[in-house]
Amino acid sequence: MTELAMSEQSDLWRAARAQFPILDQRVCGRPLVYLDNAATTQMPLCVLDAVKEHYLTANANVHRATHELSGRSTCAFEAARQRVARFIGARFPEEVIFTRGTTDSLNMLAQAFAAQRGAGFSALVSMLEHHSNFVPWQQAALRAGGSFGVAPLDERGDVDLEALERLLQEKPAGIVSVAHVSNVLGTVSPLERIVELAHGHGWLVSVDAAQSIRHERIDVAALDCDFLSFSGHKALGPTGIGVLYGKRELLQELPPVAFGGEMVDMVRVAGTTFEDVPLRFEAGTPNYVGAIGLAAALDYLESLGGEAVREREHELVKYAEQRLEGVADVQILGSPLRRAGVVSFAVEDVHPFDIATLMDKMGVAIRAGSQCAQPLLEEVYGVNSVARISPAFYNTFAEVDAAADALERVVRMCRMAQR
Ligand code: PMP
Repeated sequence: MTELAMSEQSDLWRAARAQFPILDQRVCGRPLVYLDNAATTQMPLCVLDAVKEHYLTANANVHRATHELSGRSTCAFEAARQRVARFIGARFPEEVIFTRGTTDSLNMLAQAFAAQRGAGFSALVSMLEHHSNFVPWQQAALRAGGSFGVAPLDERGDVDLEALERLLQEKPAGIVSVAHVSNVLGTVSPLERIVELAHGHGWLVSVDAAQSIRHERIDVAALDCDFLSFSGHKALGPTGIGVLYGKRELLQELPPVAFGGEMVDMVRVAGTTFEDVPLRFEAGTPNYVGAIGLAAALDYLESLGGEAVREREHELVKYAEQRLEGVADVQILGSPLRRAGVVSFAVEDVHPFDIATLMDKMGVAIRAGSQCAQPLLEEVYGVNSVARISPAFYNTFAEVDAAADALERVVRMCRMAQR
């Protein structure tokens, strides 16, 4: 038996798969092969159960009332904060701010940073970025009258570190915000080196961990990054919940940008004072049930063994890359030094939407489009759309085979139609 087949059959992955009954269905008459995990992951039963259990037994608004249910809800919400802090290696739970997702985290950070620095605002991103880690910084710079720079990539699709260092030297020191893992090329950025370079030139570092939260080990204290953002729904958790991590001393200096209940200390006609972190950044009723679901998801990921999950996802994506390389006319985007999570590809003279639509008819769910990364696609690769396959640990090697076979058929069909 091959090594692949052995891992296929391991009890761990079979039991894991059973946690995701949504995958056990037919689409267009074919068994569903869900390979769009970079867009969103599915929720295991244990997360759905945790959410249901909370609604059934403990639901009440947090932090506000003195009654029993509110106490239970508040405890579960704050325990979720501690869970997230442990998962990402934060020193203190109050370094974890609950947001609506990565996009919300990065907008909040960019706006707070702009409010703090004014015309002295300076932000640097890379050409790899998702729009969520590009546009908030670009727009904040425009509004503040500050500076916005973009580090180029090398020919493989890795951030050009020499060019990044030149920008760090030339521009006024501010904040560098980079993706840990690109949602298009799968590039894993060398964060240790980027943090070292940025700090060496007096810059802060924000990490977009939307993709890496499942694929890479994250330890914010060891990495010494200043901020980090991710979404629950890409880590087996519910939608509408996300995290902004920040070093406590930095968060304490940042002004809040959303105002309302929960985040205030004293409100008078003459003025308002604010709560300490994290509450000052959580205006209004937080998505406490989302946070509880996210904590259950992180528990589950750890129960599988974080390293085992990461290894399996790396094996699956490596296998997907090999299989796609074998399909005639398929061009894989980028060849980064290290790839995680996704393989994006194009087929000459076939629109990615046609590929994804036809593959869907064969039961295979993949993504096609700009992947929310127009600067990368249009300005680096000169295309406006690509197709993308993104496996998760609950997928099987046989599903990757099914996707590659479906793609082969699609390319053949399109070539025949073009004759
Ligand atoms: N950054 C990256 C690298 C992403 O892949 C995504 C989601 N595709 C985001 C940011 C935005 O995440 P969300 O839509 O959950 O806010």
